[in-house]
Amino acid sequence: MHFEISSLFVFFLTSGLLGIMLLWLYYDFREKESYVIQKSCPVFHCLKCGHIYHKYGQIEESVCPQCQFNNQRLKF
Ligand SMILES: [Zn+2]
Repeated sequence: MHFEISSLFVFFLTSGLLGIMLLWLYYDFREKESYVIQKSCPVFHCLKCGHIYHKYGQIEESVCPQCQFNNQRLKF
């Protein structure tokens, strides 16, 4: 009887740790994926009206959606 309780304890402990590790891997993967999406999303600051906006894709110039002024991509 004592052996069964300790086996159950080890089983629940192992499955709990495994669950935490899987969640950790899942959120780590998700975070890296969102970073890649943000990285490929250039940010623009309009010199005319001050509006900050972003576009998808690897583009260097973009037209401001508020005043139609052509702006260069912000570089950090
Ligand atoms: Zn603008």
